[in-house]
Amino acid sequence: MSEIEQSLKPLFDEINNLKPKFIERLTKAVAIPSVSGDESLRPKVVEMAHFLVSELKELGADDVRLRDLGIQPPPVTTPDLKLPPIVLAKFGSDPAKKTVLIYGHYDVQPALKEDGWATDPFTLVEVDNKLYGRGSTDDKGPVIGWLNSLEAHKKLGLDLPVNLVCCFEGMEESGSLGLDDLIAEEAEGYFKGVDTVCISDNYWLGTKKPVLTYGLRGCNYYQISVKGPGADLHSGIFGGVIHEPMTDLIKVMGELVDVNGNILIPGVNEMVAPVTEKEKALYDAIEFDVDELNAASGSSTAIYQDTKDILMHRWRYPSLSLHGIEGAFYGGGAKTVIPAKVIGKFSIRTVPDMDSKKLDKYVFDYINGKFAELKSKNTLVVELIHDGNYWVSDPFNDSFTAAAKATKLVWNVDPDFTREGGSIPITLTFEEQLKTNVLLLPMGRGDDGAHSINEKLDIPNYIEGVKTLSAYLHFYGRS
Ligand SMILES: [Zn+2]
Repeated sequence: MSEIEQSLKPLFDEINNLKPKFIERLTKAVAIPSVSGDESLRPKVVEMAHFLVSELKELGADDVRLRDLGIQPPPVTTPDLKLPPIVLAKFGSDPAKKTVLIYGHYDVQPALKEDGWATDPFTLVEVDNKLYGRGSTDDKGPVIGWLNSLEAHKKLGLDLPVNLVCCFEGMEESGSLGLDDLIAEEAEGYFKGVDTVCISDNYWLGTKKPVLTYGLRGCNYYQISVKGPGADLHSGIFGGVIHEPMTDLIKVMGELVDVNGNILIPGVNEMVAPVTEKEKALYDAIEFDVDELNAASGSSTAIYQDTKDILMHRWRYPSLSLHGIEGAFYGGGAKTVIPAKVIGKFSIRTVPDMDSKKLDKYVFDYINGKFAELKSKNTLVVELIHDGNYWVSDPFNDSFTAAAKATKLVWNVDPDFTREGGSIPITLTFEEQLKTNVLLLPMGRGDDGAHSINEKLDIPNYIEGVKTLSAYLHFYGRS
């Protein structure tokens, strides 16, 4: 056992001792229904911010601030609805120590008992060594987890191995309104001197093995509008005698991707970074198989059977999905309408080294070219609706190495290095604005049901998670 492992033993013992207190703290947090998407519950979101402030102060935080973000921009139904504040706090400012910024969110997804919850979503309930309640895993468990770590240090009179800067927001589930600007404003202010950022707000890939996450895909979302007739028409009168917008749109959308997920737009696949041997090796250790994919999709419709193929296509290759057609007839029955205007929606999940602007150009040129081939007299317009860039970090840097050592010490197994197919836009903002790297260090398991009914956090994940977050700070502090 190394010296650092030896020195962490009393801390881990203290964390075990404090388990009832930690569960009680999470119970209090879950009891506040801080649903950011429900305007009527906005006072509860603010109450949750104040709860964190009082906890942080009790734990000895310096320079605690509630940063006002002003009025929520439209669309809102409540006039002059204030955004919930960002909670900022610091622990220590020793220039000899490294500084870690921890980010988390204190708002939650909506939850109603009637949605199918077995118990009241805002009462933390323990069943079979799991804690059920809205926000237990996303993201109150991890946020409270950091506070628990601070409490264990305080109880032992143990110095924090790093300076800690806390940034907790209350609008994550509703687009993180105001956070980008705040990070930009404080990059040279409150956040000055931050060496690395640690975010605990995602999940293990499965249920057994801890992971560290080093990449997220981006997303460019497009729409194609095709219009022609002045109004919706009857096919008995106009069928066969006019160019129909829906026919044009289906033709064009049908040329974007094949049934095996291959993107057919020239230039797109050529931008993808080649797989390196070092990267390939990271996939060898990962515990995952096609059965887990089938269980998650509720079907046996997997394109790939091999684990590596599945994960690489989810994490490190782009994908194109068709999402819907606005303006099309979609009800039951047999309406004989010819829609006058239809808008097709699709998106491309992006990966390194795709250039977003170049991608837009390839998409626009291809679609306009395919439409021109149809020689239709309708008009087509293709546009980008929104884009968010991908993120990928170096899984071998100091922060990831510290987290890997912490995981190994606590869980007695090397973590899997994963990416995710979705995006967490704030990751990129921190990296760009603070000019530092970001580590995603999840606490919960893949089956926690974040955003779903019966959200839970396993007690071992909660308690060992507090140890992992703590040990990470110690290993990083000495790196
Ligand atoms: Zn979250």
